[in-house]
Amino acid sequence: MRQLGKMRRFDGDSLVIASHNDGKIREMRALLAPYGVLVKSSGDYNLSEPKETEDNFAGNARIKAHFTARETGLPALSDDSGITVDALDGAPGVYTADWAETPTGRDFNMAMTKVWTLLEQKQARFPRKAAFNCTLCLAWPDGHDEIFSGRVDGQVVWPMRGQLGFGFDPIFLPDGETETFGEMDSARKYAMSHRADAFAKLVAGCFA
Ligand code: IMP
Repeated sequence: MRQLGKMRRFDGDSLVIASHNDGKIREMRALLAPYGVLVKSSGDYNLSEPKETEDNFAGNARIKAHFTARETGLPALSDDSGITVDALDGAPGVYTADWAETPTGRDFNMAMTKVWTLLEQKQARFPRKAAFNCTLCLAWPDGHDEIFSGRVDGQVVWPMRGQLGFGFDPIFLPDGETETFGEMDSARKYAMSHRADAFAKLVAGCFA
């Protein structure tokens, strides 16, 4: 494990969020707002999406951040994330976005229904424990990177609740809360989410 003191500081004035996911970009922009950095994203550079060929969050985060740093010549910050459901042996996990793929785009209602249907088929006991995981990779054009991981524990609930957030938010109830991420206002989600947890580590390591 690298020591905090040995991490490379971010001292540029702009970075690129290595993503085309509007929900993630919105949250990452909000979390970066206090640091006065000019924030762009992959769409601003018409970048394609590199294939996520690794079977773990850190590996895929690295692929996205290094690709974007190389293509833009700027430091790039990626997020690889997903929901792991205990009774499904950690699925969908690193394949969370894939479970929503259809020939005409991503359908998260379908993906959330699949999760609940599998839990019902297994007669999984309650609470149906799950966690959101987020791994951030900050990569520089010279090939250096720093990696940070965060998580939030909770359970999968049904039916879907709330229209806020994105992805699997309507079926995720964080431990100790009464609202799903889909019902929670954004400031509250940002204060407790897996992404916020990873961001706190990124800030301590590279921005403080
Ligand atoms: P990837 O990181 O591009 O492989 O995609 C991660 C997927 O996990 C997203 O498409 C979302 O479906 C899901 N996900 C990650 N973070 C969140 C979150 O904060 N709320 C809801 N869904 C999320």
